[in-house]
Amino acid sequence: MKKLLVLAIALCVSIAAIAQPKVIAHRGFHATDGSCRNSIAALQKAQELGLYGSECDINLTKDGKIVVAHGSMHPDKSVYKDKGIKRVEIQKSKLAKIREIPLENGEQMPLLEEYLSQTQKDPYTKLIIEIKSHATPALETKIVKQTVKLVAKYGLQERVEYIAFRPWVCFELKRLAPKNTPIAYLNGDYKPEYVKGMGISGIDYKYDVLKKHPKWIKQCHKLGLTVNVWTVNDEEALRWVIEQGVDYITTDNPILAKKLIAEMCTK
Ligand code: MG
Repeated sequence: MKKLLVLAIALCVSIAAIAQPKVIAHRGFHATDGSCRNSIAALQKAQELGLYGSECDINLTKDGKIVVAHGSMHPDKSVYKDKGIKRVEIQKSKLAKIREIPLENGEQMPLLEEYLSQTQKDPYTKLIIEIKSHATPALETKIVKQTVKLVAKYGLQERVEYIAFRPWVCFELKRLAPKNTPIAYLNGDYKPEYVKGMGISGIDYKYDVLKKHPKWIKQCHKLGLTVNVWTVNDEEALRWVIEQGVDYITTDNPILAKKLIAEMCTK
């Protein structure tokens, strides 16, 4: 009995010592009234929740505009399945044509500039920009250049972090964004030491990858890399990533994530 008590106290102490991960709303806080993925409303609602960050996806249109959309098709297949609406391929279509089809909540597809303008309206919540993969490295360089320029135009260099699946995009961000801008690699196929060698700030890997390689979390921390994980939505998975001491959690369920963090972590 005494042993059990000691064990229980030790467990409480170890859980109490967990640092608070930062919560990032995946494609904004979309699972709420009037919102939808990658909409201005989703960013606004993430800001209202006081989240650390709101993630969004960006693509370059055929006429060189940067839109906030997951792609590659609009509407996204997860949303407009079987609804009989003709879909457009974002990177191969012009902005006007893409915008003929509204988002689920009635908004028109936002431009990155409109998203940056909304980011400016709140002093806290950061914008986590995922630069999607494009057909050629030249196009990826083009979107990175334009994005970095726009972020500077809006004075948001300290409020924007980047993530990408393509190493090339990470390298171009490292070359063109201000020094020390957070850049994390998404694709889950590189070990911590390789990512460290890329010269970027961290990994942002799928939950399944970290479940398979839980040691990577501590290895990253030893190397000075940050650890973000996507997209963690249910309670069991959220509890696991919190216990593992990740730095960021990207989730469709930010309210539950916040609640569990408050319950499990010290300030
Ligand atoms: Mg994304």
